[in-house]
Parts: sequence; structure tokens; C-alpha cells
Amino acid sequence: MDSTSNNAKVYLFQEDREKSFKHWPFSDEKQCSVRKMAEAGFYWNGTDTEMDIAACFVCGKELDGWEESDDPWSEHRKHAPQCPFVKYGRPEAYLTCEEFVTLMMATLKMRFQTNYTTLKTNGKMLIEKKRKEMEKLLRTN
Ligand SMILES: [Zn+2]
Repeated sequence: MDSTSNNAKVYLFQEDREKSFKHWPFSDEKQCSVRKMAEAGFYWNGTDTEMDIAACFVCGKELDGWEESDDPWSEHRKHAPQCPFVKYGRPEAYLTCEEFVTLMMATLKMRFQTNYTTLKTNGKMLIEKKRKEMEKLLRTN
């Protein structure tokens, strides 16, 4: 698998994000260990030559140039304050079921933004068409 295949995946679960880190240059004792990265929403988006690239599973924000003293949550907050996961500011284990579902929806919406916009536009057009048909029916009766 090459690194581009990472992009097609949706890393909803912390466990999957942890597993995505194949060549992370920082050890488990560091502030930005794999576990802490995954906890703060990051999955590995690096390559063999550029290992320190990670992206958020919800907002898609990609960050590189990590340093061992970097705190994943702080970095996430600093670079993507609008991210719904950052707004909760809690690891997966501390989210309610409802919060998790909300995040899941946000993730899918973000991921399929183009499709979603198309769907919405088509949906509106369809509703408008139906409304006109109804009006016509109402007028004739
Ligand atoms: Zn994010």
C-alpha cells in the first residue's frame, strides 16, 4: 500500500488511526506519540521519505514538521479551531454516543462535501418541482 491509499480511508476510530502510523519518527514517551496523535484525531498521512505528516480524520487538516515536544491537541486547536473534534476536545473514550455520531456525520459530510453539495442542490430542485406540481393541482381543483 502506498501513502495515497490512506486518503481514501475514513479513520473514525482511534484504534484504526493508531494502526495507520507506519513510520512515525517519535517514540511512545514523547508528547506526540502515536497514541496521543490518534487520540487527538490524527492519522498518519506520511510517506517513506516524509514521515512526520498527519491529518485529522474529521476536518482533514494536515500538519507536518512535528517536534517531539508538540502536544497533538494544542496543535490541532491552533491550526484548526473550527474542527468539531477540537470543539469537543476529548478523546473518543470520553465522547457520548450522540457526540460520536455527530462527529461521524461531520466527517462524512466533510469527506464527501462535493457529493453532498450536489445532492443538496438536486434535492432542492426536486422539492421545488414537486411544489409547483402541487400548486398546479391545487389550482385546478
Ligand atoms: Zn480536525
